[in-house]
Amino acid sequence: MNPESRLLAFVAAMTRLAQAHAGDEDRLVDGATPLMKELLAHDDWLPTAMAAAHPQHYQQHLLYGDPLDRFSLVSFVWGPGQKTPVHDHTVWGIIGMLRVSECAQRYERGTDGRLTPDGSELTLRPGELDIVSPTRGDIHVVRNALADQVSISIHLYGGNIGRVARHVFVPDSGEVKNFVSGYSNALAPNLWARSSA
Ligand code: FE
Repeated sequence: MNPESRLLAFVAAMTRLAQAHAGDEDRLVDGATPLMKELLAHDDWLPTAMAAAHPQHYQQHLLYGDPLDRFSLVSFVWGPGQKTPVHDHTVWGIIGMLRVSECAQRYERGTDGRLTPDGSELTLRPGELDIVSPTRGDIHVVRNALADQVSISIHLYGGNIGRVARHVFVPDSGEVKNFVSGYSNALAPNLWARSSA
């Protein structure tokens, strides 16, 4: 398969999966996991514009958004030392490392609203996956593992993540703020004008 076809093949397979198992998180995550592993097995398909870092902010480039909002695929580009706030997703998500490395720390939310770390920090390396969802653990903070290199992970979500209403948290006080992430890019990659196979 040529590099340009990998993303289109993923999107086609994911669309079939969404069609077959709409609303069934377990079957969607089980079906999407090998598709993500396959996509991450090669680092030759991500368009250069979708791999661009920003000097101040981590970037969320939309690679593909399902027209029916059943899933979206995003390239998360970490500049050196960049980090998210503590946040949730409210939909399932599969995070896969494409280039270099990132670290994720999960949090639990107590009945008093305060957040405490859940387990130790996980380091993702190319080809490795992490899964988030309201049923599997949905709150975390993520950072570039390196202070002197760009890292890139590919995120698949069970909704249009740029438009989903979710939350950021202040761990010590338990303060919660509503947020909608949007996307960094104005245009998604053109998957359809290239030759296939
Ligand atoms: Fe996240």
